[in-house]
Amino acid sequence: MKLISIDSSDTIVALSSSPGMSAVALIRISGPEAIAIVEQCFSGKKLSQIPSHQAVFGRLISNGKVLDEVLVTTFHAPRSFTGEDIVEIGCHGSTFIIEEVLKLLVSLGGRLAEPGEFTMRGFRNRKFDLLKAEAIADLIHAESTLAHAAAMNMLKGGLSNNLKTIRTSLVDFASLVELELDFSEEDVEFASRDALTKQVQNTLAFLAPILETYQYGNAIKRGIPVVIAGKPNAGKSTLLNRLLQEEKAIVSSIPGTTRDVIEDTIHIEGIQFRFIDTAGLRESEDLVEQIGVSRARERIKTAHLVLYVFDASLFSPANWDQELNEILTLGNKVLLVANKVDKVNSKQLSLIKNAAGSLPLQFISAEQNTYVDELKLTLLQQSGIQLLNPNSIIITNLRHFESLKKVQQQLEKVLESLHSHISTDLLAEDLRLCIYHFGEVTGEITNEDILGNIFSKFCIGK
Ligand code: GDP
Repeated sequence: MKLISIDSSDTIVALSSSPGMSAVALIRISGPEAIAIVEQCFSGKKLSQIPSHQAVFGRLISNGKVLDEVLVTTFHAPRSFTGEDIVEIGCHGSTFIIEEVLKLLVSLGGRLAEPGEFTMRGFRNRKFDLLKAEAIADLIHAESTLAHAAAMNMLKGGLSNNLKTIRTSLVDFASLVELELDFSEEDVEFASRDALTKQVQNTLAFLAPILETYQYGNAIKRGIPVVIAGKPNAGKSTLLNRLLQEEKAIVSSIPGTTRDVIEDTIHIEGIQFRFIDTAGLRESEDLVEQIGVSRARERIKTAHLVLYVFDASLFSPANWDQELNEILTLGNKVLLVANKVDKVNSKQLSLIKNAAGSLPLQFISAEQNTYVDELKLTLLQQSGIQLLNPNSIIITNLRHFESLKKVQQQLEKVLESLHSHISTDLLAEDLRLCIYHFGEVTGEITNEDILGNIFSKFCIGK
């Protein structure tokens, strides 16, 4: 892991748009010399005289030759993303031009930025807290409507503002409790224990539903893992192909040909699902197939939902229980998919309905593409994820979850201490720890290793 230099006295330079050829590219320069450096190679108006946040057209000159025609925008400190002077150069997106512009800016005194260094500077200059800095990274990587909404809500700062208010109030209580310690000889109570209890209870009530959203957090970010399981020839690959609408899996009438795990994603109502087609769970002599089967078991264990596909035409209550039972004991939510309904009569349908009992069931014909859209909707319902309100705070980041969990545990400890009328010095200690953990969430209290770790995962230029 590369730790970011904490020296922010120099001026950093990076390509902020995607690397590779494009119509236009954006190069960003931030630091005290940003404007002066670009001024030296820019043939347009004098940059230092152009008002902040205004774009000007001109030419970049390198060794007396025109390198490119560009659009340059200046952002004067502190009204910029980093809180420093920033110059953004919009140039043509040829890899040659990009490289030459970067070289030119470095030769004039810039330094190539480390990953995440722009965001790190913004954080250090208090343009945003750590929650928001991380939300910026999540926003860049968001691949679905819900992932985008979660990152956007975090960026808007709802959680940051709430946590700040709560922390301030706890700091107020803590200082009163500390003050009591100075008067320990006398029996005084500056901090109302009732009011403190109420505050802690309210905070716990505020945190609980937010923490709960994390069970979907990873799924929102990376897609909800859904395993397609069932006996060979049930029609799993055909269904997957239908869902993906492209022939990625091998469809064959020979049992057991789907040997490995195939994965792909689809979006249903803005939510990304990751489909995993597995080998069946049957015992096999074939080594390759055995590996496939053990992988399938692993995937089923970690999946959010299992689509258990079976051939409705071959269904008899006696022959499907074993594998399904195994899946159910692996602890997953199962959605039964009775495939090949084109081949069955209504008597068979009601037999299946009865056998399914309370398990969710969807009839389809993968081959004829009937009821596949209904299956998608059932899938959405069964995932439970649509219960999330996209406008509310959703935790998708492990660090946020873990540090908020620590806050929650410490608040519970404070509450216990209050109930058991613990001594003032111990209460003060519990409160101090609580405030510390609050600070960890938003980044008011951090250590360099943690910061380095967070920002090094950003891309260069961010
Ligand atoms: P898998 O082993 O579970 O992946 O099964 P496949 O997707 O390879 O399908 C096995 C066979 O069943 C193939 O010959 C498919 O064409 C056929 N099949 C799949 N779905 C249907 C369906 O809905 N109706 C009918 N009649 N045949 C189907």
